[in-house]
Amino acid sequence: MIMQANIQEIFRSIQGEGFYAGTPTTFVRFSGCNLRCAYCDTKKSWRKTKYCAYQPVEFTRRWVRVPNEVAVADCADLILGLSPRGLVSFTGGEPLLHAGYIARVIKSLGGAYTYLIETNGTLPAAVRRLPDLPNIVYSIDIKNRGFVKFYQAVPRKSGKYVKIILTKKTEAEETLPTLREAGVSARTPIFLQPVDNKLDKKQLQKFMYILEKNGYTFKVIPQLHRFVHLK
Ligand code: SF4
Repeated sequence: MIMQANIQEIFRSIQGEGFYAGTPTTFVRFSGCNLRCAYCDTKKSWRKTKYCAYQPVEFTRRWVRVPNEVAVADCADLILGLSPRGLVSFTGGEPLLHAGYIARVIKSLGGAYTYLIETNGTLPAAVRRLPDLPNIVYSIDIKNRGFVKFYQAVPRKSGKYVKIILTKKTEAEETLPTLREAGVSARTPIFLQPVDNKLDKKQLQKFMYILEKNGYTFKVIPQLHRFVHLK
């Protein structure tokens, strides 16, 4: 059976968030999400699209339309067409709604890439559909308590880091028990990112104080893609 997925866009730009911020990246943005965050900056990804927008020349504003659904082999070819190596981000929407598809794309492309799974951290069962490889890295948001099971489900060899998007509702006192229960250690980097780059200094100070007091490793970074618009 040919496996297919509804993909919004495949393009090359810089990674705007987390551990790889600033790194040239090929993005594969899937349709569909199991959450509806108020601050979502990719609401258009919630719905399926008739075409996948593909950028035939990397880092440009040129686009061609590829009919959806996109087969695994075609997705791998489109990624290869943009870069034969480097960082590939599977994003969305929620990419792990397409975990089986991603596993096949990774199998088809092999070891020349680092594969970043930019997930909302709420679908632990989907992680089991991906191979345990050191060149797969999970960027895990803390959206809710589902984070605990998700974090613990990430396979041993794969990389992982945690992203905390600071919105008006993000409370340090609520986040700390979640980190503790999941077993996040000082070896796992945590990235604090003010949503829309709107800094609430008091909130940020509180987060930094609490994380440092509890021995976590963190960095505060802006959402870079808000500054660098290549699309
Ligand atoms: S999980 Fe991500 S893609 Fe889904 S609604 Fe929230 S911010 Fe948007």
